[in-house]
Amino acid sequence: MTNDMIISAQNIADHYAVLNRIGALGDHPGAGFHRPAYSDEETAVMIYFETQAKRAGLKARWDAVGNLFIETTDTQEQWMECGSHVDTVPDGGNFDGLAGVVAGFTAIAALHHKPRSHGLRLRIWRGEESASFGITSIGASAALGTLAASALDKRHAGRSLRQAMQEQGADPDIIASAQRTIEQDEIDQISAHLELHIEQGIVLEKKGVDIGIVTGIRAASRDWISLHGEFDHSGATPMGNEYRRDANLALAHILVNLDALFLSHQEEDCGLDLIQTIGHINSNAEKNSHDSELYSNAISKVSGYAYFSYELRSCNDILRNRYKQKAIRVIQETATAFGVSARIESISNSSAVKALDQSLQTDMQRICDTLGYSYSTLPSGAWHDAALMAQQSHSNQTPLPVGMIFIPCQHGKSHSPEEFASNEQIAKGTSLLATLMQQGLSK
Ligand SMILES: [Zn+2]
Repeated sequence: MTNDMIISAQNIADHYAVLNRIGALGDHPGAGFHRPAYSDEETAVMIYFETQAKRAGLKARWDAVGNLFIETTDTQEQWMECGSHVDTVPDGGNFDGLAGVVAGFTAIAALHHKPRSHGLRLRIWRGEESASFGITSIGASAALGTLAASALDKRHAGRSLRQAMQEQGADPDIIASAQRTIEQDEIDQISAHLELHIEQGIVLEKKGVDIGIVTGIRAASRDWISLHGEFDHSGATPMGNEYRRDANLALAHILVNLDALFLSHQEEDCGLDLIQTIGHINSNAEKNSHDSELYSNAISKVSGYAYFSYELRSCNDILRNRYKQKAIRVIQETATAFGVSARIESISNSSAVKALDQSLQTDMQRICDTLGYSYSTLPSGAWHDAALMAQQSHSNQTPLPVGMIFIPCQHGKSHSPEEFASNEQIAKGTSLLATLMQQGLSK
């Protein structure tokens, strides 16, 4: 006798048959998708789920900032809930975000006539992707009252966020006046919050496992590092640091030294969850449009100026900050050795979720074992709406239990038309989600 919920791949396929048409950039197979935050396309997907919910006898309610919450109609004291988003990056795929909403809806629709001691809820968040307005998790942070009012002036496709919200029937004044749509009372009634998402990396596929049980959510610190040397005649200035203050040469050595720092750090602290990336070298279009110094470089000059972006991601803010201090020392010392000065300008600095709820992770392992699914534990490299829920606490100061389920995606591709997860892969993740939501939290 088992209470495990088995969701069929056909259940998933039925939703995708409709959803593959909303926001598609063409009707050929492999076409990309574009559903920006607070766009007609994003709303159309949400209305599809609102209609499906009503047809299934579930309640659907919009909050004032345009998120859609789908719930069982019972009046339970406690709620097991899940959430995800339906917006995409430009020319993105149809699985990042949407797979989690399809899974959540399918799970609740399968469970709501079964006996339970708690209600079930799906939160369909607006605008998780930062691609539209340059801000991540707009809907979730607006609902939780953590979105700065200045966000309303950010622009996308000729509109401010304020205008885009109004066009979709949402109320920007909630953000302007620092209100929230999910009050503490509602948080207090949540037993656990879950999110299913495609991995967006290649770890699960490489390991050949069905499920990823997420241990934590990495967050990034991002900086611009600019190097200021001296522009000189390339023919008349002799080689050597006593003659040249070469910004490009310093930059090259800094990158190699940062890589060496990272490798030595891995050896002395294996287990450290850290990712270091230099994404831009003199190549950010927005920055270059008002960076005249960059264009003083020439083929016949010793370079006097260079810059690069420096990103660190980790699940552990303390370790990340400690490593960053060492990295900045390497940058400064290397620059000085070339007679160049290094300036550091912060772009952003966000807080990680060091550990998702341990008992939810244990429950997921147990359910995977009984369902016969292989699994692996891993941190999430990307940000998710669930990270914001993980920053919430019950009134008694205990953190809100939050868990994340990853499913593999083909070749680890995401944010691209190549993004793909099969109906079978989504159905397995959904079966795990549904079983967990039915059982509630075992503490
Ligand atoms: Zn996503």
